[in-house]
Amino acid sequence: MGGYECTKTPNDPCILQMISCPAGETIGAPATEQFKDARYRMLELEFSDYEDEIREHLGGMLPKGSFEFDRDVASISVNRWAHGYSYGGPGDSTRKGRQPFGRITIANSDSAPGADALVAMKMAWRAVKELG
Ligand SMILES: Cc1cc2nc3c(=O)[nH]c(=O)nc-3n(C[C@H](O)[C@H](O)[C@H](O)COP(=O)(O)OP(=O)(O)OC[C@H]3O[C@@H](n4cnc5c(N)ncnc54)[C@H](O)[C@@H]3O)c2cc1C
Repeated sequence: MGGYECTKTPNDPCILQMISCPAGETIGAPATEQFKDARYRMLELEFSDYEDEIREHLGGMLPKGSFEFDRDVASISVNRWAHGYSYGGPGDSTRKGRQPFGRITIANSDSAPGADALVAMKMAWRAVKELG
């Protein structure tokens, strides 16, 4: 990452990464229902909801007097990752869903019950081999 430098001293500005995995009202229900519930909950939130919660968290954990949100926070970016992770388990339908269709084969991580780059590459390799 050319030119990128990490924070060197406590006086330098820094990036805070804050991660939240929202849960809905369906805790205990089958995983697919919980995922759907949480996804809708996340997509219903406005930017101001995220900002309010970030204010609350930082204001609650950093010492008053040395931290002032409006002075010390330059900007906020919210990246909502609604599709979350691919998942498998019993009844996994990815094997059925990725069957070749004529000369069309299905790659990508969603064609396997796994969400990382290695899985995506394995699926790409499988899809190419299916073409013979
Ligand atoms: C925030 C985040 C962090 C992650 N961290 C990690 C990590 O640390 N380690 C790890 O292994 N994995 C990580 N992953 C997962 C990894 O990025 C994915 O598993 C991988 O990129 C999936 O590869 P893919 O080829 O299946 O799909 P993608 O990389 O999503 O590629 C799909 C491509 O298809 C294109 N496309 C979509 N629709 C069309 C269309 N109609 N026509 C033409 N092109 C189209 C898209 O633009 C995209 O370029 C992370 C993912 C996210 C979102």
